Amino acid sequence: MLSGGSDSAYAALMAKTMWPHADFYGLFIDYGQPEAPPERIASMAVFKRLMFNYNHWCEVKVSDLYVFHRQSVAENNVYVPLRNLVLTSIAAAKAEALEAEVLVVGNKSLQKTEGEFLTYDGNRKFYKQLESLVQSIEVTSHRILIVPTLSENRTQKLTRKDVYFGLWKNGFEYGETFSCWFARGFDECGECKNCVEKKLLWEQWRAFTT
Ligand SMILES: [Zn+2]
Repeated sequence: MLSGGSDSAYAALMAKTMWPHADFYGLFIDYGQPEAPPERIASMAVFKRLMFNYNHWCEVKVSDLYVFHRQSVAENNVYVPLRNLVLTSIAAAKAEALEAEVLVVGNKSLQKTEGEFLTYDGNRKFYKQLESLVQSIEVTSHRILIVPTLSENRTQKLTRKDVYFGLWKNGFEYGETFSCWFARGFDECGECKNCVEKKLLWEQWRAFTT
C-alpha cells in the first residue's frame, strides 16, 4: 500500500531492502480523501524511484468512503473509525488477485496509544490481527503475510526524523513524498504540523550534509 506519504515511502524502501529480488506492486487507494490528487502523484513518484516499473503501480477508487471526521484529542488529530480495516481489506483482495505473498503496510506504531496521536487501527498489533483474520479465511494454500516493515523487529517506534533522514539518505527529494493535512491544490500548505516538522527536519538534514 503506497499512499505517497513519508511512512509508506520508507516502508517500501525497507521492503525493497528486505526482499531485493521480489516483484513489487504499488497500490494507491483513493477513498475520497481531499489530498488524494497530490498523494497519487507522490505515490507514483515513490514507486517509480524504487521499483522502476510503472506497469506495476495500480489504483483502487472507493471515492465515496470518505466521511468528514470528527476531531478528537488534539486539534487536527483525525480519527476515521476503522479506516485501515477497510483499506487493508481492499489491499488484501488485490494481493489475492495478484497472488502476492506479502502485503506491506506503512504504519510505524507498535501500540495503539503511542506518542501524541491515537493509533487504534494503525499499529502493529492491529495489522497482525488482520493478518490472522485474512489467513483464517483463505480457501487455497496461498497465504498472505501483512508486514508493517517499519515496526518489524523493533522495540521502539521509529521517529519522523528516522523516516525522513532514511529517505533523503537514499536519494529521495524533499517534494517526492506528500504528508500535508491541508493541501492547496497540488502543493503542501507549509503550515500544518506535518509540513512544519518536515521543513525543520529538512533544514537539519541540509546542515548535516553540506
Ligand atoms: Zn501542510
